[in-house]
Amino acid sequence: MARYRCGKCWKEFDDAQLKALPGVRCPYCGYKVIFMVRKPTVKVVKAI
Ligand SMILES: [Zn+2]
Repeated sequence: MARYRCGKCWKEFDDAQLKALPGVRCPYCGYKVIFMVRKPTVKVVKAI
């Protein structure tokens, strides 16, 4: 499940909240610019 952040009010929400709305927009303020937020996973960089 991906998380998203509004480009205006900067609140975070997830897939379920986004899909509950018609179209892609912020569920809080209705702004249409949404950024995908990557999960705080630990990146493993392999040294070759
Ligand atoms: Zn918003």
